[in-house]
Amino acid sequence: MYPRITVNTSKLAHNFSTVKRIADDAGVELFAVTKSFTANPRITSLLINAGFKGLADSRILNLKKLVGLPCKKMLIRLPMLSEVSKVVTYADISLNSNYDVINALNKEAKKQNKIHEIMLMIELGDLREGISPEHAIELSKKIQSFSNIRLIGIATNLTCYGGILPSTENMRIMPDTAEKIERECDIGLRYINGGNSSTMSMLINKTLPKKINHLRVGEVLIKGTETGYQQRIAGCFDDCFIIEAEIIEIEEKDSVPTGNIGLDAFGQKPTFTDKGRMMRAIVALGKQDTDPEGLISLDNGIDYIGGSGDHLIFDITRASKQYRVGDILQFNCSYGVILRAFTSEYVEKRFL
Ligand SMILES: *Cc1c(COP(=O)(O)O)cnc(C)c1O
Repeated sequence: MYPRITVNTSKLAHNFSTVKRIADDAGVELFAVTKSFTANPRITSLLINAGFKGLADSRILNLKKLVGLPCKKMLIRLPMLSEVSKVVTYADISLNSNYDVINALNKEAKKQNKIHEIMLMIELGDLREGISPEHAIELSKKIQSFSNIRLIGIATNLTCYGGILPSTENMRIMPDTAEKIERECDIGLRYINGGNSSTMSMLINKTLPKKINHLRVGEVLIKGTETGYQQRIAGCFDDCFIIEAEIIEIEEKDSVPTGNIGLDAFGQKPTFTDKGRMMRAIVALGKQDTDPEGLISLDNGIDYIGGSGDHLIFDITRASKQYRVGDILQFNCSYGVILRAFTSEYVEKRFL
């Protein structure tokens, strides 16, 4: 059935153990982020087999799929006040930045007779979630009285909203802040987190401050590439996921539409360059299921032209072979393509 995404499980398992070994050698524990493949059980079991002791996801529906796995489960999007009871049920640990939410988590944990563990998010300049170090110290003191919350560490997130890279300057703030919290609250923190896959380059260059002992990583595991400078991790594969789509029309047509140009299917005003007549193939895969810009054609002679919700159009004029209707186009996948393919119920998931 097409479209489908095929997972090469042996390549993926190889990435998992390769990246984990690098982190183990540096004394850094990795929590594997499962959101890009919607915590699919075939893939989470590979992570468990590779020795991961913590899995993390941004969505409760995905965390539910981890029930029963022998590992810690962490919610990595700040909890909604409206979901705290599910957070306490499905997550052992959550990332937090707000007193009212932590207060609600405490009440709910009391109700469920659990200790809920939290890490406070520190803002280091990327300007997504997190609070200033000073605010984190204050908040740590305030939550000491909560009977069913345990503060186990501090965490940060970079290279997401603002594109800010981890550096010795911003990373140094983490151990400094942790020390202050430990001193002021008279507690020990198990984890000082240094962010996501974009911090892997510092880990590999051995420039990460020694006290940072935790990262949450997704992309480096599934694409084999650290995301700060887009460097491939030695020995890792970048083609663990291949998406395939079936051709439903091939026609020679103009490169510029004919008539008065209004708006496209997504309300944008499209622009065109005249490349003359071209062979155009339409596949049964659309923006609802994929991120066209993230498709890397395995046939180098094929270029993406444009698309809509259910259709993608390719220029196959210089393709390596003569395609016909019913043939399959294959693409390596960016992180975003994997995410949308797993999210779309219209894309079959296949495991090799
Ligand atoms: C998605 C996400 C991650 C994982 O990021 P990668 O770049 O895939 O390693 C880590 N932390 C948070 C809070 C996230 O939302």
